[in-house]
Amino acid sequence: MIYLDNGATSFRKPDRVRRAVAEAMARCANPGRGGYGAAMAAAETVFRCREAAAEFFECEAEQVAFTSNCTHGLNIAIRTLVKPGGRVVVSGFEHNAVTRPLHGLGAELMVAGRKLFDWEDTLEEFDRALRQGADAAVFTHVSNVFGYILPVAEMAALCRERGVPFIIDAAQSAGTLPVSLKALGADFIAMPGHKGLLGPQGTGILLCGRMPEPLLLGGTGSDSINQRMPDFLPDRVEAGTVNVPGIGGLHAGIAYLRSVGMDGIHRREALQARRCGEGLERLGMRVFRGDHQSGTVSFVPGGDCEEAAAALARQGIAVRAGLHCAPLAHESAGTLETGTVRVSFGPDASPEQTRAFLRAAAKLPAMES
Ligand code: PLP
Repeated sequence: MIYLDNGATSFRKPDRVRRAVAEAMARCANPGRGGYGAAMAAAETVFRCREAAAEFFECEAEQVAFTSNCTHGLNIAIRTLVKPGGRVVVSGFEHNAVTRPLHGLGAELMVAGRKLFDWEDTLEEFDRALRQGADAAVFTHVSNVFGYILPVAEMAALCRERGVPFIIDAAQSAGTLPVSLKALGADFIAMPGHKGLLGPQGTGILLCGRMPEPLLLGGTGSDSINQRMPDFLPDRVEAGTVNVPGIGGLHAGIAYLRSVGMDGIHRREALQARRCGEGLERLGMRVFRGDHQSGTVSFVPGGDCEEAAAALARQGIAVRAGLHCAPLAHESAGTLETGTVRVSFGPDASPEQTRAFLRAAAKLPAMES
């Protein structure tokens, strides 16, 4: 199988990730719950990953909170910053992991910047929305549907200038593009551990630039006499037993990225996405591509997107079709009716993958010209 669905999760994780998961299962009990060897090994496994993540994302170790996925972190962050009925600026490319929690709070959304691959438009619209007054802003670093890399450094600066607290959704960028809590000055940055960071499914990280409100209440192995959640990080948002094998694997994923270099991965993925987009255009598909694009490219074939993905699957190519949990992004791009077929490259991106994909795609119906 040629796996081109890295936007959903990275697949065929590095060997060292699988080994680290198995090792943690063999050696670790519950972290922070005992002073015997297996409990201490668990605490050390978790702490070492926390330290590695802190170095990678430029923050203090205690600002790294482990979550079960990116959605979990976004929910904590949104619940902390947004009061029911609050006014929130979002980009035109948000995932349901952002819009559903906001909808659940009855937030008033100001959607800013709907043009794909257009930094000028994104920044102008974003600034205009902030100037109207907002309680918070939430924006994705990279669109999971179109691979549009948003100008997050500039968006963060605008938020800081206007004193608007903000959350960055780094689901599609952590592990491929630089993400720094210190440089961005974000209130929160949420990310999965299982996509670009190459960790196991069921892992995630919330970087906390401020004290979060806990979503789950329960035991932390600390301050046990107190019936309130601890008022210190990361315990405040880590109630219950954390995913020790997953965190062990996540640490190995981060170590792998450090050893091979994130830059090269991004360049390889983006290059193949570009080649793939050019090839699809030659085949007569409607392709969404432009400047500031990651290793993800979306297209609309002549026929139904789901059928196209199924036809590709029969030829051994794994891609995803539909709305990709991001109806807002499709509304912005005008593809809400059709959805798209999404091709998302991973660290193993290669010209061979692109050629094999295009050979299979050549059998799909093209758009009528
Ligand atoms: N945000 C974006 C942009 C995503 O692409 C995804 C997942 O695809 C999420 C959030 C949610 O991530 P998770 O499945 O880890 O909760």
